Amino acid sequence: MGRIVAIGECMGELSETGEPGLLSMGFAGDTLNTAWYLRRRLGTDWQIDYLTAVGTDTLSGRLLDFLAGEEIGTAHVQRLSDKTIGLYHISLKDGERSFTYWRNDSAARRLARDPALVDKALQGADIAYWSGITLAILPPEDRASMIEVLSQFARRGGQVMFDPNLRPRLWDSADTMRSWIHRAAAVSDLCFPSFDDEASHFGDASPAATAERYRQHGAARVVVKNGPGDITLVHAAGDLETVAVPAAASIVDTTAAGDSFNAGYLAAELSGETMRSAVQAGAALAGRVIGARGALVPQAVQVDDK
Ligand code: ADP
Repeated sequence: MGRIVAIGECMGELSETGEPGLLSMGFAGDTLNTAWYLRRRLGTDWQIDYLTAVGTDTLSGRLLDFLAGEEIGTAHVQRLSDKTIGLYHISLKDGERSFTYWRNDSAARRLARDPALVDKALQGADIAYWSGITLAILPPEDRASMIEVLSQFARRGGQVMFDPNLRPRLWDSADTMRSWIHRAAAVSDLCFPSFDDEASHFGDASPAATAERYRQHGAARVVVKNGPGDITLVHAAGDLETVAVPAAASIVDTTAAGDSFNAGYLAAELSGETMRSAVQAGAALAGRVIGARGALVPQAVQVDDK
């Protein structure tokens, strides 16, 4: 049996229902979205665990029930009695979404407080999956210990997969963000940057330049997403390929495009596909996810891409 550990923050999501005074409640977060798609894509010979920290309150308990109901393992979720989960609210006005967050003091920010617990969760795992959002929410000293634990995991033969998911608002400065993102790349087998974000914050002239920069900072392999544009991938040996993205049948909501892409990619690679066909599988899944509202789209998964 293989095991993947996704590491990060899952928040409560409050969205407007259209009925005044009535909100609906769900759970979402970048690494959780990827874990959810991985769970639905991979067979029972893969265990998917989620590593985070939550409170001991009822709402935190609901999140754990949700994960368990989705068959995502919660054995490594820490419970902190003085904290609770973060929340966000989405409102839709004239087709534009806007977000309000309450996450500055969330339990998840403490997920790497005790590096021994992270190390324990990774013992015997095959893959650790995390993101620049996971990195951003940690206190600086915990970022360093998280990267150290992941580097030990990589030295034992584990694969670290990292989506930079650049979110400048979560960082105290753009320079801090850039430097930590590169430290995380250094322990990664595979990085999944998105070109528009990378061009904005690192000034890359092309997806190939993004891929090259991550390689220079130590990532063994890179897959650069680019919205509807070609995907650029770089193999461990350094050779570069581009893969066209099929036109989406309809674009309703691009939430979780990148997260679902990463899951479709990884599931295909773990099933023995080449990087090129794993990219095609990721793009096919993401193309369906953007055709419906919300981050978690069950009907997008129930299609065989082969
Ligand atoms: P992120 O959500 O991380 O910003 P992207 O916007 O680059 O990432 O999208 C991730 C993937 O989703 C793309 O590589 C592509 O496969 C798919 N995708 C996104 N936007 C479109 C689109 N307009 N048409 C078709 N596929 C898309």
